[in-house]
Amino acid sequence: MSRPEVGELTVPDRTLMGPGPSDVHPRVLRAMSTPLVGHLDPSFVEIMDEVQELLRYAFRTDNEWTIPVSGTGSASMEAAVGNLVEPGDTALVPTNGYFGDRMASMAERAGGDVVRVDAPWGEPLDPADVAAAFDEHQPDVFGFVHAETSTGVRQPDVPELTSIAHEHDAYVIADCVTSLGGVELRVDEWGIDAAYSGPQKCLSCPPGASPLTLNDRAMEKVLSREEPARSWYLDLSLLEGYWGEERAYHHTAPVTNVYALREALRLVAEEGIEERWARHRRIAGVLKDALDAMGLALNPDEAHWLPSLNAMEVPAGVDDGAVCEYLLDRYDLEIATGLGALEGDIFRIGCMGHSARPENVTLLVPALAEALEAQGADVDPAAGLAVMRERLGER
Ligand SMILES: *Cc1c(COP(=O)(O)O)cnc(C)c1O
Repeated sequence: MSRPEVGELTVPDRTLMGPGPSDVHPRVLRAMSTPLVGHLDPSFVEIMDEVQELLRYAFRTDNEWTIPVSGTGSASMEAAVGNLVEPGDTALVPTNGYFGDRMASMAERAGGDVVRVDAPWGEPLDPADVAAAFDEHQPDVFGFVHAETSTGVRQPDVPELTSIAHEHDAYVIADCVTSLGGVELRVDEWGIDAAYSGPQKCLSCPPGASPLTLNDRAMEKVLSREEPARSWYLDLSLLEGYWGEERAYHHTAPVTNVYALREALRLVAEEGIEERWARHRRIAGVLKDALDAMGLALNPDEAHWLPSLNAMEVPAGVDDGAVCEYLLDRYDLEIATGLGALEGDIFRIGCMGHSARPENVTLLVPALAEALEAQGADVDPAAGLAVMRERLGER
């Protein structure tokens, strides 16, 4: 085999406004060039404590069991589902988006019997349907997606959903991958037993170490399992040895990703979590209203709008894929098309973390108008730009 001649790493300078990853804050990138220490080094143990404290703040929880899972959001997801669902348990999951299906696959692999509560893609779960599903199936575990990245729907009524589950002694798992650090989320107040997230959405951190939190009640179920979790790597009873009091080797933590997450969470704490939620609403609100004025309606009902992922309808006769390509080619700007039941119907425009800034909106709105006009779409760019300028001027 001949010696490969591979050049120095170069990547285009993209602006990331798709479903994730989002633009990474320069301070997070700098933190990633910090020299390594061992994953059991006393200095790293201190860093672990700090990350846990910062994560509790972002999740709005006092849960002792709050850690970054080594891996992407799907790893923290599988840690939650694979540990809480025991063989023979019934797991209730939603049908209203891509990630409910992923939850179902994970629950099945964990040996659970999967049952579903139905809602169409683009709509949230109705608490009455959840209550009916509980009466019918008596599930042990109920998983739902707080911020469905595939549809741009924010699940409201979370406390109502968790009360239904708790009246039936079930455990609630919330997918908060696209809400943590961007959209109001109160784990303790809302009665969520286990919540997981990812770093590369509203925390604007590269993927690699993914937030997970469990309350004592959930952790008791995990620690009293009859059969160990099927994944050794994600077995929380073993991870307890590393992240708990003991600090013993389980696997080598992704040291650099933990540095990155620490810096990303420090940015959250500096800004203040509620101010951060408000910023996402404010900036994404300008984006959404400007696009609406231009002629792209918000796909979900306004009451279920997800500021971190704006699902805007594709105008008639427009090739959505070609629009995304145009933006990438001409503006180094990434947005995404719809998928599943909404394929061809929506653009998915992320406004997450460091991407939720006026600069991103002033780049996106005219660029998208140009891309749509290039296709002869019946849109009104001037109306969109007027809304954008007026609202950003009001800041
Ligand atoms: C991105 C995402 C995930 C999966 O995270 P990965 O980091 O891609 O593994 C899970 N749930 C939701 C809602 C997501 O948006």
